[in-house]
Amino acid sequence: MDPDALRAAVDRCPDTAAVLPVHIGGIVSPALDAVLTYCRERGIPVVEDAAHAFGATLGGRPAGSFGRFGAFSFFPTKVAVSGEGGLLSAALPDDAEQVRRWRDHGKSAQGSTLHDRPGGNWRLSELHAALGTVDLERFARTLAVRRELAARYDVLLADVPGLRPHAVPDGSDSNFYKYLAHLDPDGPLDRTLLKKRLRERHGVSLAGEVYDHLLCDHPYFADGHQPASSEGPFERARRFVRHHIALPLYPSLTEAEQIRVVTALRSELS
Ligand SMILES: *Cc1c(COP(=O)(O)O)cnc(C)c1O
Repeated sequence: MDPDALRAAVDRCPDTAAVLPVHIGGIVSPALDAVLTYCRERGIPVVEDAAHAFGATLGGRPAGSFGRFGAFSFFPTKVAVSGEGGLLSAALPDDAEQVRRWRDHGKSAQGSTLHDRPGGNWRLSELHAALGTVDLERFARTLAVRRELAARYDVLLADVPGLRPHAVPDGSDSNFYKYLAHLDPDGPLDRTLLKKRLRERHGVSLAGEVYDHLLCDHPYFADGHQPASSEGPFERARRFVRHHIALPLYPSLTEAEQIRVVTALRSELS
């Protein structure tokens, strides 16, 4: 999140209820510091969308520990999984307690039959929690393997023309939920054609982008639900959306498979 763009958006919407930075691809941006400082001054709570960022850190501090809340997803495509569901981190003990009440039908206390607020059934089921617990036991290894695979891609991609690995900023330690790279906009192939050729000629499927559409371009927002805070050309975001790719990366990926992916990229982009 660009702190200057945030300031301009909040000036347009002075009644902003919360600010939600998204740690795209599993990278916590150093720009978060300026976002946090500004929001503290304005008294606006920050809720981190850390769905991509379980295990990622900035300055040694984990994603989800910067804002008033951090929201994580354990959906099967993420780095830590429980099948469905997630985790909410809270900076304030009382906030955590309030959230426990909301998720349990707004009951006034655990086990109480009195309801003192609106709520819902937002509990993680025991079955999903059991799955998630097992996955968490091996998470340190998951994280180490993802980082090793990413470091190997960095080396292998060095001589591939027309493709620049996305640089993780200093101080930020990615969990490599995605290994992102930027395609040269003036290169021979656009992303759609590149993905098609990789698939058809080399049997290589790239991972999904983050994302292929801007939020404000989704039909719901384009159809008059656009908040005033989302006006803007968003030129950098548009460039990113159009020209980035995500390489296959999962713990069982082998070195030979990584070489095959990079060889396919080199042959299509040269
Ligand atoms: C996956 C994801 C979500 C949603 O997570 P659920 O577990 O499906 O609720 C929210 N934000 C981002 C950035 C995500 O990638």
